[in-house]
Amino acid sequence: MDERFKIYVEQLRDGHVEKLAETFEPAILEVQDADLSFTEPVEVRGEAYLADDMLVMHVDAHTYGNIPCRICNESVKVKVEFEGFYHAVPLDEVKGGIYNYHTVLRETLLLEVPPLAECHQGKCPQRKTMQKYFKKENAAGEKEVEDGYRPFADLDLDFEQKNK
Ligand SMILES: [Zn+2]
Repeated sequence: MDERFKIYVEQLRDGHVEKLAETFEPAILEVQDADLSFTEPVEVRGEAYLADDMLVMHVDAHTYGNIPCRICNESVKVKVEFEGFYHAVPLDEVKGGIYNYHTVLRETLLLEVPPLAECHQGKCPQRKTMQKYFKKENAAGEKEVEDGYRPFADLDLDFEQKNK
């Protein structure tokens, strides 16, 4: 296993804090299919230390994933990140004094993949071809707003007249 994922408990004795600053290749996420793939490095920053009988990790991580646009299906690049994530492991579960954080990093990042994305910063060109389905709904919505304002104008008038 990759040395960069290993944390040696012995090196954290006496309050020593290990700084984490790694750039991993996207392959560490072990996902490569049509609905989700990773092509950018995975940046990890944070620290590891001991607290009582626990190994504690406090980590930020980010990368970019590719998921299909929800309208046209083109690939969209989305940021996948977490910040200030705390992970604590009882020391008696750390076998041989070496903790490997690959799995927790991978699974925590994958949970942050957004469920939906739209290309062109939310302005998918294919929306135009969908307009005919949206139009009716929009027109009704605008009408409601207009109707909503008129009664208020009338109420104000009535109110002023009654006070005269
Ligand atoms: Zn699109």
